[in-house]
Amino acid sequence: MDARFDAFCSSLALSAPQVQCLKDEIAESAIGSHSDGSGLEQACRAAEIALGHDRVDTSPLNNTVVHENWSQACVASPYCIIQPANAADVSKALKIFRHFDINFAVRSGGHSPNPGASSIDANGILLDLQHMNAISLSQDKSIASLGPGGRWGDVMETLTPQGVDVVGGRIPVVGVSGLILGGGLHHLMAELGTAADNVDSFEVVLADGTVVNANTKENNDLFWALKGGGPNFGVVTRFDVYTIPARKIWYEIRVYSVDDLATVLDAHVTWQNSGASDIKSTASLIMTPDAITVILQYSAPVERPEAFAPFYNLEPLQIAVPSTIGTFQSLATILGSVSSNQPMRHDYRATSSRIDARLYEDVYRFWQTRALAVRDETGANQTFVIQPVIPNVAKQGVARGGNSMGIPTENHIWWTTLVDWTDPKDDEKVRSVSIETTEQWKKLGQERGLHIPFLYMNDASRDQNPLATYGAENIARLKEISLKYDPTQLFQKRQNGGFLLSRI
Ligand SMILES: Cc1cc2nc3c(=O)[nH]c(=O)nc-3n(C[C@H](O)[C@H](O)[C@H](O)COP(=O)(O)OP(=O)(O)OC[C@H]3O[C@@H](n4cnc5c(N)ncnc54)[C@H](O)[C@@H]3O)c2cc1C
Repeated sequence: MDARFDAFCSSLALSAPQVQCLKDEIAESAIGSHSDGSGLEQACRAAEIALGHDRVDTSPLNNTVVHENWSQACVASPYCIIQPANAADVSKALKIFRHFDINFAVRSGGHSPNPGASSIDANGILLDLQHMNAISLSQDKSIASLGPGGRWGDVMETLTPQGVDVVGGRIPVVGVSGLILGGGLHHLMAELGTAADNVDSFEVVLADGTVVNANTKENNDLFWALKGGGPNFGVVTRFDVYTIPARKIWYEIRVYSVDDLATVLDAHVTWQNSGASDIKSTASLIMTPDAITVILQYSAPVERPEAFAPFYNLEPLQIAVPSTIGTFQSLATILGSVSSNQPMRHDYRATSSRIDARLYEDVYRFWQTRALAVRDETGANQTFVIQPVIPNVAKQGVARGGNSMGIPTENHIWWTTLVDWTDPKDDEKVRSVSIETTEQWKKLGQERGLHIPFLYMNDASRDQNPLATYGAENIARLKEISLKYDPTQLFQKRQNGGFLLSRI
């Protein structure tokens, strides 16, 4: 055995019998074979020895864990799947990837619809974090520690009964990691910033297998980078997030006819230009080609708060959820129940804009015609979603130590769409609707001085480049930090997909 192999075994802290086992199981000639991808078999064998057989699935084709990705378009069969139990396991996995030059993907909740972001085919190994899903509270309940493989539904179910909330996800099935690393839009964002802004400390495994903390005192540059910087710097193995005392909140969900499009959009703009100065209020619009759903949420137990006055005179078709004093958890259950559990192909897509009801209306009409035609042809469901982002979001980010996203400091919206369809042959046709719609947002926005280039990572589609919109200074700093913590650029070169700095 060569010195490199010896160093590799010693870095994995293998016992003498384990080293012998590795030697026996792996032909010496294959060790260190990098160029033709044949290292995959050796890497999976090494993982079985270093982490234990129960942590490595070498027959993923027959295992449903392959299908854990939310979108069918992302389901792929990796050469093997490593399911670490803790940061030490993740460290071993990364050392194995490095030693054998392995392509890999990292999966938390699997809710990115972008193929390859958290999935990989037989040319690589999937690092699936779903068993690292512990949730605990510090003794004084000020910090919640979240495992990277958890889902927001479990977080709420665990923390709300203990009297605390966190700024995290709004939909139960979404994963903890992807959401925080991409920013994290929550009902409390107007008041407290993004989910990433509410992280006290990250535990991260770097490319060389070192486990470090990133917070205001240790590795402060990495701390900044991870807040919105996505999968570029390491595998996060624990998120320590600030809690707030559990809130009673108010919400009401109203459905309007599209015949009332102009007045509903006017009400939203009036609210965002005035009512949104009450940072406990947030109003989101989820529009289909047939109806407009308005979600009014107030993060205090105040029925029909004054902030939403522009909406109260508009007669809805239906009150989908009546005026309710509830919790973020009860609202999450309602919002989560809307999505279908059927396996489907999915996409989302991002753009941003200044506030203007006529722009929203014109782009909606453009989108509606296309969405209806493609629905008739393919059965695809599409939504047109307007999410308010008030100046306090960026301010909160700065106040909490800064983040890498460069969120615009002005009052604006993040537009997104959720698209569901079934047949792979319709991929291009279905996606063309949202692609053309974001082009239309940009064209009309530029003509009317309303365009904002920022793309929110957690809504960005496979061909979009959210990191490129973070601003030249932030991008340069992110690249520097990536080189500092990952000098061999494992995460840029060997990671299968996701929003990578190397692809800006
Ligand atoms: C139904 C639905 C509702 C949503 N609601 C919201 C919402 O309310 N607010 C919001 O902000 N976003 C929302 N999103 C978007 C969501 O935040 C992103 O899709 C996010 O990427 C999902 O995270 P995940 O862990 O489930 O995804 P995954 O697909 O597992 O991971 C996403 C990316 O993060 C990387 N990654 C995963 N874990 C780690 C880790 N531990 N360390 C390093 N990199 C890692 C992956 O490699 C991948 O590139 C929603 C998405 C869906 C589908």
